[in-house]
Amino acid sequence: MALKDVLSTLKNEGYIIKRLDQYLLSLNDKDEDRRWDINSPSSASKCERAIVYSRLGYEPDANAIDARTRRILDNGTDTHERLQKYMLDEGMLKMDEVPVFLDRLQIQGHTDGLLELSKYELGILEIKTINTNGFSKLLDARDDHKEQALVYMVCLEERRKWLKDKFSTEKELMDYLVSEEYHTFIENHYKHMKGGNKFSRGEKLMFKYEQHMKADRLLWNTPRPINKMIFLYEDKNTQELKEFTVKYDEELWKDLEAKYEYINEYVAKKEVPPRPDEATSKSCSLCRWCSYKTECWIL
Ligand code: SF4
Repeated sequence: MALKDVLSTLKNEGYIIKRLDQYLLSLNDKDEDRRWDINSPSSASKCERAIVYSRLGYEPDANAIDARTRRILDNGTDTHERLQKYMLDEGMLKMDEVPVFLDRLQIQGHTDGLLELSKYELGILEIKTINTNGFSKLLDARDDHKEQALVYMVCLEERRKWLKDKFSTEKELMDYLVSEEYHTFIENHYKHMKGGNKFSRGEKLMFKYEQHMKADRLLWNTPRPINKMIFLYEDKNTQELKEFTVKYDEELWKDLEAKYEYINEYVAKKEVPPRPDEATSKSCSLCRWCSYKTECWIL
């Protein structure tokens, strides 16, 4: 966070805003359960070097969220929850906040939900909020969102296939889901998780375990491959909606797979890869908004 943001918070007069901003700033010291030592699907289109900086624990240029940015992010979260609730109540959304992972490529994250496309098919839901200007120009899902979509598709489809191959009856599946082996397997994905003010580590783990169990049951009960992602964009100003379906694209996935292998090699060596060719200066279009540009451009 820039010093000017802290100063403007302190300068605010009145009864509410100054206190509120200080409270929102203090949330930066609270527990953060985000896992940074894996590849997150939402960063799929980011520069490889920036991903490695993050995974190796380099300090970003601004590691705190200022009060206004916190309000913007929370507004986005509220929109997600509102739209997810509508869809859950209607019945089309079979599950929200679905955990995903692909251990062979060190990927872990979660998607906004699993939608019932038909009796036999699930689609992945991703909600995005966007300003009116961007919304009016939107004719298809954004390219970076398409890359993110592919990662989710592969994570969930590989898991679905694995479950279908391994368990031929629901009884076998349920025996696995309540086994010690399954608990340990899930727990290994959340070693970073800490107890917080609201919930203990054990309670958080139990919640994760239940989410995984629900997702695995849904996947096992789905006969058709998961190869579609539905993006729902909401205009932040007018609450208008647009939706786009992104389908699995083998060629694009091969490129992404190669990118993850490249990133994982550098993480294993604890080295950062060279800057990509598109990075021409600190202020070029690739680097201008990067959180690691100070570290990256020390020459
Ligand atoms: S500053 Fe540019 S090249 Fe360096 S990590 Fe960030 S995006 Fe990549």
